[in-house]
Amino acid sequence: MKKKIALTGDRPTGKLHLGHYVGSLSSRVQIQEDHSQFVMIADAQALTDYAHEPKRVSENVLEVALDYLSVGIDPKKTTIFIQSLVPALPEITLYFLNLVTWNRLKHNPTVKLEIQQKGYGEEVPAGFMIYPVSQAADITAFKAEVVPVGDDQLPMIEQTVELVRKFNRLYQTDVLIEPKAVLSSVARLPGIDGKAKMGKSLGNAIFLSDSPDEIAKKVKGMYTDPGHLRVEDPGKVEGNPVFTYLDAFAFDRAKVEELKAHYQRGGLGDGVVKKYLLEVLLSFLEPIRKRREELAKDPSHVMNILFEGTKVASAVAGETLREMKRSMGIDYFAH
Ligand code: ATP
Ligand code: MG
Repeated sequence: MKKKIALTGDRPTGKLHLGHYVGSLSSRVQIQEDHSQFVMIADAQALTDYAHEPKRVSENVLEVALDYLSVGIDPKKTTIFIQSLVPALPEITLYFLNLVTWNRLKHNPTVKLEIQQKGYGEEVPAGFMIYPVSQAADITAFKAEVVPVGDDQLPMIEQTVELVRKFNRLYQTDVLIEPKAVLSSVARLPGIDGKAKMGKSLGNAIFLSDSPDEIAKKVKGMYTDPGHLRVEDPGKVEGNPVFTYLDAFAFDRAKVEELKAHYQRGGLGDGVVKKYLLEVLLSFLEPIRKRREELAKDPSHVMNILFEGTKVASAVAGETLREMKRSMGIDYFAH
């Protein structure tokens, strides 16, 4: 049986963090075992809101690749590539743009929230407004059926499905495949500030590559239950990121349940819970950081993995584009 295809990506706007791990990276490490997997470093998409900081984007390409390899994404099983080097992607985006209305784009809830967070008001870069369409191109170019993402990406998958249906119906074809989002058990890890989403551009992340000192500082300063003023007060576990992180990263479930019960009863200080969380995070991140340090010694080896992956990705996406143009009847000299 033919393997199912999976595609995901990350914007090289910074190093990857714990949210990426639980929301997407851990699924990718599993998925590569029985899928044909593509993982894209979305530098072109990062430029839609970082056009004025191209160096930040280009420099983070290597950082994101190091993060991938250090968590166990294996280039023998997964094709890792750089978005801007695949010319079929912007071309597919262009054809898709004719199949979506401006009004539809304005109502994408994730884009709306990001416009607000970035304080764009009416001055949104047009490229940013249409990035869900370019994501649809990325997913469909590889005929991906499986897209393991955090829940902020659900509107993008929905948009992609709409475009696939529209394209296939309009041009009476079945070349494009409808994708499905795969959500992990923690589809959105909150930030250390208690905000709903840890984000690399939001200043509230613990990065996979943070040093033990940095992690200790961040855990110490973490938001907890603001109503838990004295140790003896009962505290809230829901919406308390310290417990959300324990749920996501601690192996000893019984211990976490015990801590939760104690915290809710009262008599358990934030400091004690944070100390345990720090222990849990340090032991989880230590092997990742070690592997990363090793890999970082040979950046040209890592860049070469991206170069080889990009060749493979370009061929696959180019073939889908050819099929799409044939469906549209604009494959003038293909015969
Ligand atoms: P940026 O702030 O630049 O948008 P980001 O932290 O949102 O960065 P992206 O590169 O936009 O990261 O997202 C890559 C993938 O990681 C997406 O699938 C997204 O859903 C997932 N992801 C990002 N942050 C989280 C989080 N806090 N919890 C779960 N998944 C997340
Ligand atoms: Mg994002």
